Amino acid sequence: MPKQPRPEALERLCKALSRLPGVGRVTSERLAYHLVQVPEAEALDLAEAIRTARREVRVCSQCFNLDQEDPCKICQDPHRDRKLLLVVEGPREVAAFEQSGYAGLYHVLQGRVSPLEGISEKDLSLQSLLRRVEEGEFKECCLAMNPDLEGEATADLCYSVLKKTGILVTRLARGIPAGASILQVQQPILSDALHGRRKY
Ligand SMILES: [Zn+2]
Repeated sequence: MPKQPRPEALERLCKALSRLPGVGRVTSERLAYHLVQVPEAEALDLAEAIRTARREVRVCSQCFNLDQEDPCKICQDPHRDRKLLLVVEGPREVAAFEQSGYAGLYHVLQGRVSPLEGISEKDLSLQSLLRRVEEGEFKECCLAMNPDLEGEATADLCYSVLKKTGILVTRLARGIPAGASILQVQQPILSDALHGRRKY
């Protein structure tokens, strides 16, 4: 019995979906079959949302955040603290810090050094960061990388680029996560938590 291949168009959809981050073969098949069986308007609405987002969302030429305007709304906002610059790995981190109530400016590195993924310092917006610090009125630059090996390496790199400007370079406090036990956290975290202690 010859095998019955999937319709070519469905196969193409499966392949396209499987290229998305975090989507494996099984999930891509489930999504593809779902999309060809829901009402057509629902599926086309997704296609249109992708098309619009791709067309409208752009990289801010100042901070490298994503927005529909350039400069982005954060860079344009006159009420933000223009003396404080928070350096983050990606635009998703900007959204997270916005939820936290942070009111300074950002610089998005567009990644982090990762030898395994072939990402080196050339791929990051480090020279733009240096230019902004040299030309801007910032008093403090806080490195807010993720607290893992690659994040630490990226923060070290940022520091080596920024130290010659003389700006105050800080980094996020690390502490004991809520719900964790003091006996379980690593020694550098415990030491950072002590350094970052504050008034009760
Ligand atoms: Zn911006």
